Amino acid sequence: DEPRESTAAETVLELDGVAKRFGSEDVIGDLSLSVRDGEILTLLGPSGCGKTTTLRLIAGLERPNAGTVTLQDEPVAGDGRFVPPEERGVGVVFQDFALFPHLTAHENVAFGLKDWDEAEREERVDELLELVGLADHGADYPDELSGGQQQRIALARSLAPEPEMLLLDEPFSNLDVDLRVEMREEVRRIIKETGVTAISVTHDQEEALSISDRVAVMNDGDIEQIDTPQQVFQQPESRFVAGFLGHASFLSGEVRDDHVDTALGHVPREDVHGLAHQYDGSDVDLLVRPDDVTAFPTDESEADGRVVYRRYLGPTVLYRVELDGGETIACMHNHSDRIDLDERVGVRVTADHELAWFPADHREG
Ligand code: ATP
Repeated sequence: DEPRESTAAETVLELDGVAKRFGSEDVIGDLSLSVRDGEILTLLGPSGCGKTTTLRLIAGLERPNAGTVTLQDEPVAGDGRFVPPEERGVGVVFQDFALFPHLTAHENVAFGLKDWDEAEREERVDELLELVGLADHGADYPDELSGGQQQRIALARSLAPEPEMLLLDEPFSNLDVDLRVEMREEVRRIIKETGVTAISVTHDQEEALSISDRVAVMNDGDIEQIDTPQQVFQQPESRFVAGFLGHASFLSGEVRDDHVDTALGHVPREDVHGLAHQYDGSDVDLLVRPDDVTAFPTDESEADGRVVYRRYLGPTVLYRVELDGGETIACMHNHSDRIDLDERVGVRVTADHELAWFPADHREG
């Protein structure tokens, strides 16, 4: 092994202009992506956008029709080259875990270590069982393990041969909802402890935001944005990303000198992200998520709109308010101040971060 620089920015995987067709269908158009050493990157997008195909191209389970795939500076696909999956040093955790039912947990983890010296193999398996918190379960068969334990073993098995990179396809979709949140934390901990670079695939935005260092939001065979979870959520670069990452309402306004004039009053310019003066006088749509807006009971003289939808969520209540100008926006409100359906309310933008915005004349969809 070459000595590794300890810079987090070292590139481990590079996809350059990758395309994939199935029959006449262009599933991946022209996809480029760089993955840094030790990061957890999640490919997030709606069903059919090409996430799994991208993962399979990286693993070597599909060949690209165009473009190149480079792993650790070695071209593994493209330009007439193709390195098969077993020679790529990539571990894959499948959606259904794919444990061997007739092998114990210990034997499952040892599976990829057939070429190892026996003593080293035993040591490595014990180390992995310890890492995933199942040191006492080595003798158990998969059907004696819970879903979360099976996932831990699947992870340990993939990590045992010390892969350069770990690929996880919808890793939590086979777990009960309450177990998912716990296993997200666990899987992140285990990956970070080994330092392996990981690429995960999901259509669940909460999962992507919670386990990843960066999220690549995919739409129709292409990456729309790749950024930290906070950036893709708060500063989406397209309306698609804004809508896919959580509930998005758009508050229309006109840009003035030091503020944006909206149906909810003036939003100060400094509260809007990167709004250059060249947009003065233009119409824009401010992205407001339910957490960014607060509805409150008020006198008719101060009211901004009427509650048209109300859903109790426990700690908060989600409302949709039809503003007097006709726009509808979603907002949260602490339920200690109960607001009823049809009630006239005041609404304020209460975001504690800069709002994203989109030019109004580029309305998509
Ligand atoms: P999902 O979340 O539903 O798995 P995805 O984003 O992972 O979706 P892919 O599984 O990559 O999407 O599939 C993208 C498109 O490619 C789909 O239209 C799918 O039907 C098609 N596709 C994938 N694999 C093949 C194949 N082997 N042959 C033909 N079409 C395929």
